Amino acid sequence: MAAVRCSRAHAHNRTPAQIVLPMTITEEFVAALPKTDLHVHIDGSLRLGSLIEMAKERSVELPSYTEEGLMDLVFKERYNSLPDYLHGFAYTCAVLQDEEALERSAYELAWDNIREGVRYIEPRFAPQLHINDKFDMARVMLSVHRGLKRAKDEFNRSDAVRDGSEPPFEYGIIVCAMRMFNEKFSRYFSNLIDVHPYSPAKSIYSMASMELAQAAVAVRREYGIPVVGFDLAGREDGYPAEDHVPAYQYVHKHFLKKTVHAGEAYGPESIFQAITDLHADRIGHGFNLFSPWTLEDPSVRDKQSYIRELSEYIADRRITIEVCITSNLQTNPNLKTLDHHTFGEMLKHRLSATLCTDNRLVSRTTMTREIMLAVKHFHLTPSDLKHIIVYGFKRSFFPGSYLEKRAYVRRIIDYYEEVERKFDVSTPPATDEG
Ligand SMILES: [Zn+2]
Repeated sequence: MAAVRCSRAHAHNRTPAQIVLPMTITEEFVAALPKTDLHVHIDGSLRLGSLIEMAKERSVELPSYTEEGLMDLVFKERYNSLPDYLHGFAYTCAVLQDEEALERSAYELAWDNIREGVRYIEPRFAPQLHINDKFDMARVMLSVHRGLKRAKDEFNRSDAVRDGSEPPFEYGIIVCAMRMFNEKFSRYFSNLIDVHPYSPAKSIYSMASMELAQAAVAVRREYGIPVVGFDLAGREDGYPAEDHVPAYQYVHKHFLKKTVHAGEAYGPESIFQAITDLHADRIGHGFNLFSPWTLEDPSVRDKQSYIRELSEYIADRRITIEVCITSNLQTNPNLKTLDHHTFGEMLKHRLSATLCTDNRLVSRTTMTREIMLAVKHFHLTPSDLKHIIVYGFKRSFFPGSYLEKRAYVRRIIDYYEEVERKFDVSTPPATDEG
């Protein structure tokens, strides 16, 4: 049995001669583990080859029609800013304007996850970016659901799942409202702006998110689409959560779960608003939670205690942070190395945090890669890793009943421990308790 029980604390307390080398968490081991991805955008996760093919079929103009060319010009290793990062979405959204393109992208996303051992995903997207004169809300939602379901059914019919040797693949869909938009975002948004010439922008944002909230609840009921969560995405600075209170109240009253992109490119007050105005169950990114210097709200006198109280509340309520480390590294020019990413602080404060990709294409990443980066930069032990991964399953917005969720999490833990035995890794047993 490999010496894997040593924690970081133990290792630090030993003299050099006594140090037991921590078990190497290998890429093969991580790839074999069952994993989640609770924060992954469909329109940011296309296969590059598919994007080129679909753009050609639809005569959508791209700056290059080769994979190398697009990686050079659009989907880069590092970006100058969040707007630079978001630039690529103009191309992916331009091709995702019909049933076939959306279904194909959802299907391929599910299979890309299944192939690297991800067993539960919550793909998210903003349906209103895909609606046009020929493509309405219900068909947009049905297309994504069909793609995901087809992949799920194919995998779950495999011998390994049917004979019980591997856990099944499951998913729930999250819809994103936009904090802000303009007429260039989509045909839907430009029509909405056109027909409300006397309404201030804020009330149009509010109107759009409320419409999406009602649509999400309706398509879940009418078509049985597993819409499990509601999200708010887009530029934080100047576009506060309060505009979206009616939409979040509506989904709350219909028992949809709530997540909010917050503290990604703005200070902790954005996380505060996500929790106090929108009652978020989870926070997307939360990157600036421990950065008092990013606080701009002049009414906050004692920044340190503001941060302490906010992070204590998040920890105690088990509000889960969807951490996307590569994405944060790419969009924050000030973050030079992942060693300084706030995930380290989150672990130290025992926050509930789960690792996610954000965008597999735009961030050029996979779940296995994100986990390996976290292992390397935050010196995760096998126990830390197990806790983080199992917590992802527990804090998911699983579409089935609570008892079904418990049984699924139990099945995942059993399989996780089987993989550990296969790789000679030993950690304390996990329970399916919350
Ligand atoms: Zn995101």
